[in-house]
Amino acid sequence: MPRVAFLGLGAIGAPMARHLARPDFALAVWNRTASKAEALARELGVRHAHTPADAAQGCEVVITCLPISRHVEALLDGPDGLLATMAPGTVLVDCTSGDSATSRRMAARLAERGIGFLDAPVSGGVAGAVQGALTVMVGGDADTLERVQPVLACFGTRIVHCGAVGAGDALKAVNNALLAMHIWGTAEGLVALEKAGVKAEIALDVINASSGRSNSSMNLFPERVLTRAFPRTFRLALLDKDVGIAAELAREHQVTSPLLQLTAELFRMAHNELGEDADHVEAAKVVERLGGAQIGGRPA
Ligand code: NDP
Repeated sequence: MPRVAFLGLGAIGAPMARHLARPDFALAVWNRTASKAEALARELGVRHAHTPADAAQGCEVVITCLPISRHVEALLDGPDGLLATMAPGTVLVDCTSGDSATSRRMAARLAERGIGFLDAPVSGGVAGAVQGALTVMVGGDADTLERVQPVLACFGTRIVHCGAVGAGDALKAVNNALLAMHIWGTAEGLVALEKAGVKAEIALDVINASSGRSNSSMNLFPERVLTRAFPRTFRLALLDKDVGIAAELAREHQVTSPLLQLTAELFRMAHNELGEDADHVEAAKVVERLGGAQIGGRPA
């Protein structure tokens, strides 16, 4: 029976890990705040590991899903670290939306010990994770991906090999930068329209039947902004981090067109203003404040 460990039971990690609690895998879960891992392990009937090393003990595949790559890198070392127990021939699959440089550094260190590494960030949100219908964008060796494919298929319906180590991270960052642009651009346009006397409900109805539509205009704004529900599914702090990675990628490759840099600046500002716990769609509130009108017409 393949032994799998899942480390990082946050908003998206926990529903991903749930899909690995199956009779054909032996699953161990670990989380920095142990009570979350303990509760999930009890509910699923899987092993609660007390350290990353304990989780990885005897595992063929170790999956991580933490906020940033450096948090994963910090799990490698020391007596409780992954390198203490991961054996040659095993694979670390990092589902963090990470940065390519840190992923390449981790891959090189693991390779010295014969351990495989894939960067494998996901898209589809918490809803996609609950349904086991994520897209997984993978950077690394194709043969290594083939070996772990049955594990990734538990939570991913679309598993795409994007290139060498770091390619998954780069693609994920650009995807999320586009999400950020759509949120900000849709909010800015709707605030201007509200002030010009066009109600957001009517504007979205037309935009969503026209060429300006996006996932933001079709789903996020009707469900979360017009309703003022703003559910917390994906932290603004994490989107800020993703846009920052995309902006850094553009700088590294001398892409001098300014939109990624500007988007990174706007989301850093929104993150600073709204704090660590705000949801990403709440960036629209900053646009409302700057524009002086609320989307949906109710008082700001
Ligand atoms: P959350 O903030 O909900 O959870 C973060 C998890 O990482 C928690 O389990 C937390 O532990 C743990 N953690 C935080 N810092 C450290 C650390 N220094 N060392 C060890 N563990 C740590 O994040 P998400 O689950 O939303 O996101 C995880 C990754 O997935 C991010 O890279 C994000 O960008 C990406 N992602 C998220 C999506 C979403 O919709 N939420 C969608 C697609 C990608 P603790 O419980 O102790 O706080």
